Amino acid sequence: MMNKTVITIIFISIFIFIAESSSSKSFYHTKFLSLSDNTSIANHLFILTRRPHVAGTLANAETASYVQSTLISNQIPSHFASYEVSLTYPVSRSLNLTDPSSSSIKQFSLRQEIYKGDPYANVANEILPTFHAYAKSGSVSGSAVYANYGRVEDFATLKQIGVNVSGNIVLARYGQIFRGDIVQNAQEAGAIGVVIYTDKKDYGGGGGGGDGGDKRWFPDGKWMPPSGVQVGSVFKGSGDPTTTGWASVEGCERLTEEEVMKTGDVPLIPSLPVSWKDGEIILNSIDGPVVNGDWQGGEDASVYKVGPGPGILNLHYQGKEEIRTIHNVIGIIEGSEEPDRYVILGNHRDAWTFGAVDPNSGTAALLELTERLGKLQKQGWRPRRTIVFCSWDAEEYGLIGSTEWVEENRETLISRAVAYLNVDVAVYGKGFHASSTPQLDELILQASQLVPDPDNSSQTVYDAWLQSKSKAVLGRLGGGGSDYKAFVQHIGVPSVDMITGDGGYPVYHSMYDDFVWMKKFGDPMFKRHVAVASVWGLVALRLADEEILPFNYLHYADELQKSAEDLKVELSGKDINLKPLLNSIDGLRLASIKINDQKEAYLKRNKRKDSFKARELNDRLMMAERAFTDSDGLPSRPWSKHLIYAPSKHNGYGSKSFPGIHDAIEMAKQMNTKELWKSVQHEVWRVSRAIKHASLVLNGKLT
Ligand SMILES: [Zn+2]
Repeated sequence: MMNKTVITIIFISIFIFIAESSSSKSFYHTKFLSLSDNTSIANHLFILTRRPHVAGTLANAETASYVQSTLISNQIPSHFASYEVSLTYPVSRSLNLTDPSSSSIKQFSLRQEIYKGDPYANVANEILPTFHAYAKSGSVSGSAVYANYGRVEDFATLKQIGVNVSGNIVLARYGQIFRGDIVQNAQEAGAIGVVIYTDKKDYGGGGGGGDGGDKRWFPDGKWMPPSGVQVGSVFKGSGDPTTTGWASVEGCERLTEEEVMKTGDVPLIPSLPVSWKDGEIILNSIDGPVVNGDWQGGEDASVYKVGPGPGILNLHYQGKEEIRTIHNVIGIIEGSEEPDRYVILGNHRDAWTFGAVDPNSGTAALLELTERLGKLQKQGWRPRRTIVFCSWDAEEYGLIGSTEWVEENRETLISRAVAYLNVDVAVYGKGFHASSTPQLDELILQASQLVPDPDNSSQTVYDAWLQSKSKAVLGRLGGGGSDYKAFVQHIGVPSVDMITGDGGYPVYHSMYDDFVWMKKFGDPMFKRHVAVASVWGLVALRLADEEILPFNYLHYADELQKSAEDLKVELSGKDINLKPLLNSIDGLRLASIKINDQKEAYLKRNKRKDSFKARELNDRLMMAERAFTDSDGLPSRPWSKHLIYAPSKHNGYGSKSFPGIHDAIEMAKQMNTKELWKSVQHEVWRVSRAIKHASLVLNGKLT
């Protein structure tokens, strides 16, 4: 009979044996899922969102320390990657409306109201006055012109019906495109100032139907209160505007104000955001033609007319631009076998006010995820590759923390980054979805099949995802909405962005995006947060632990094929040869099939693992995405180097495939010259060559 010690030793030996075999990795991955803790997420979120924490403030430096100490307590060594960046803050602003017929003047308070019982009333004095970051300072006055969502087509409509925007002040509503593009479109139409309001139909519960018809606003319902204002940046670029292309380290070279203005990324006319209550008052002062259809408001709204006037707006904004220190927090679990290969997880931490949804639902999920990995480390798990955790600063101003870090570490990341996994907002409601570069599609879908649906435990996240009609397909990362932008569009790192929620959330970027809103409406049990952390962590674990990277480029070929078919339709009747593009996609498909076969053959063989062979295969899989970037970048957008994915030119949030080709087509259609159509063909050639380069990387052979 064996004594207790012997049994224990045998047991430990078996455990170590299991731990060292490759199947043990999946043991740990299952364990990771079982360690989830929604209470911990709620605690982190509560602590992170106690005070407003805009980038560049002491309060946000404190959240950086909190994140760092949490990482360290989970056995994850971490440090600050800090930058000196140019940020703007409001100094003074005012808005009033003159009605010439009654000669009355309405002075807007521009203040978001504290509600009765608001637990954050005691820190309300720390909330920044509502403003647009990087707005032009100035005082202007002019007749109000209503321009709907401020899209290119909205200004075209105004022109068509003979409404003069030039010299006037545009009133546009939030919701369809990036606010920086609203201001730029207004500027291009000749406006001298812009007021952007939140329409009750879109954010204030005035849209009718939906959610059982509950139209109450916060704190009674989920909708934006009458005085709520969406703050935000109107900067169209990425990273510190004064250091485009290089890192904002102390004492570095900086562009002058004139040079920044020449980039076209900052507005040249002042703007202010206002509430739906104020927007309605301005709308009521506007007479003139009516545009029906989507120009109108919700069910209880009056008829919107376009003006100009007779209401006259007097807009004043004075901002200050300051160099302030921002802090990214970088945590690292070093890989045991391939420490020089990085799987990177990122989320921003800075918020316009409390940021319970945007972005700290993601921060809380990230911290809980690291707690689980801390526990796995205690049980003997070490990742094969290095896992890097990034808590970004100053995302709200223009993806600044992540962009500066990517610019500073560019060569190291290009040679070592396996993938970047972004979560900005983790949760604002129910319904998981993801956007990715297509070689990651399969992995993300597989991970979502292993995580229970937080809203229906009898099914998985994947099942629920398939049922939601609109989001069953993965989105792409051509938009500029979050920190994946520099990774994908500047240096070509395979990436994913994940979120739970459907549509939008009404209190976006207002002071009402706080812990109370999240607890009442976003995720009362914090189980949706758990689901995001689980999918996020599982994707990271597989990328970090599997001997051969779980990338499948066949999906890339399929996606490119679809985009090429769309292009064919768009260019029908035009003398553009798409053969080179179609041929390059065929080549990519063949190369993908070939490397998939090689992967399978490697994994099936019985021989001892060959780490050089594995590394060689993995490098091809990792580097193929880089081939889609081109050192010259897109025409007139040199920082955007990815030729497959970038934002559309007039909407920084809109994702475009083949952006260079589309920009060229748009120009050619406008002016219709031979020269411009030739440039469309040139862009087709450039994309074709990039795709061919990707195939060559996958093949791994010299020509
Ligand atoms: Zn965000």
